[in-house]
Amino acid sequence: MAEVIDPDIMEVIDGRLRLVGGRCGACGEIEFPRKQSCRDCGGVDIAKVGLADHGVLWSWTVQRFPPPSPPYFGAVDDFEPFGVGYVELPGEVIVEARLTESDSDRLRIGMPMELSGIDVVTETGELARTFAFAPAEQQGGLR
Ligand SMILES: [Zn+2]
Repeated sequence: MAEVIDPDIMEVIDGRLRLVGGRCGACGEIEFPRKQSCRDCGGVDIAKVGLADHGVLWSWTVQRFPPPSPPYFGAVDDFEPFGVGYVELPGEVIVEARLTESDSDRLRIGMPMELSGIDVVTETGELARTFAFAPAEQQGGLR
């Protein structure tokens, strides 16, 4: 498995990717990515917290052309459309993420999603692991 693209927002535990957010020690608000201070109460006692690996699709779209570079460093010629969405982790936070599914017939708001990982091309041309969400019906094979 390639190195994670940003160890501040995700880590690998027992071979499984996990998102890392922040929980405010004063009010309990969870944010992703973790910030220096709480957006709710301004508290600065922010602890690292592992987030749920399941959620529901809150909103989504399909990216049909290569995004600007940076942050996109993949080859423009073999660009393939990909899904982008917001996934609500119950009781925690809404996370913006790549989706492993780009077929709009297979995506619907409110469907169960599970955390997955994909390899993306970085600035140096190497692959790095980043997080994505997959429809939870697609069990196995994607992790
Ligand atoms: Zn707070």
